[in-house]
Amino acid sequence: MKVQIGKYKNKRVLAVVAHPDDLEFYAAGTISILSRSSRVHLAVVTNGENGGSMGKEKLKALRRREQRKAAKVLGIKEVVLLNFRDTQVVNVPNLRRRLVEVIIVFKPEMLITFDPANEHELHPDHRNLGQAVIDSLIAVDVRGWKVGEVLLFNTLRPNVFVDVSSVWNLVMDSNRAHKSQFSEFNGGWEEKRRILEEKAAILGSKRGAKYAEAFRRIDLSSRTYITQANESIREEFD
Ligand SMILES: [Zn+2]
Repeated sequence: MKVQIGKYKNKRVLAVVAHPDDLEFYAAGTISILSRSSRVHLAVVTNGENGGSMGKEKLKALRRREQRKAAKVLGIKEVVLLNFRDTQVVNVPNLRRRLVEVIIVFKPEMLITFDPANEHELHPDHRNLGQAVIDSLIAVDVRGWKVGEVLLFNTLRPNVFVDVSSVWNLVMDSNRAHKSQFSEFNGGWEEKRRILEEKAAILGSKRGAKYAEAFRRIDLSSRTYITQANESIREEFD
């Protein structure tokens, strides 16, 4: 599927993630390209307060600050912190109601979130949130807003690759903003940087780019499900 993210103009984009640093890890480059010509907003469902050794309240405040700083690097207009509890994200009416509210406020043409169908993903927050976002869309529809497309990151079935080589410095800077996540126990920033480079280089090699990010794109505007199925088969074998 040929999708040129760089040509997107004047769109409203809403990314929805489970924890501070999720978006940066999977989609920082794409977000920074989109935010040049579109309004990008970010909703972060939890504060990631379980991801560190310091006290939860202190870490919560720190991670919220780090998220705002990283978002600024990527050109994100506004960050909404939904304050659900870390490691306890479940696809229940309470979460979906909140997601619907946020989507209705920002009225995005494009949503970006986790692919819930990645069976290699071990973190239930990630899978559950992706499914909750998708499951919110019927209620959004009923409330009178139609999201045109969804880009799912952390996917095993990508059909869109975005060359992010030209904005790699922003990918690095936004990830490095999450300083609370680096320690001697996990190899620190150097290890995180190595993982990011390796992942982006593997994805890039599939499309002749130095660094790339990959997504599963679902086109909701045409509702031509059969055509999309055919396209994805062609994509897999080309
Ligand atoms: Zn996460």
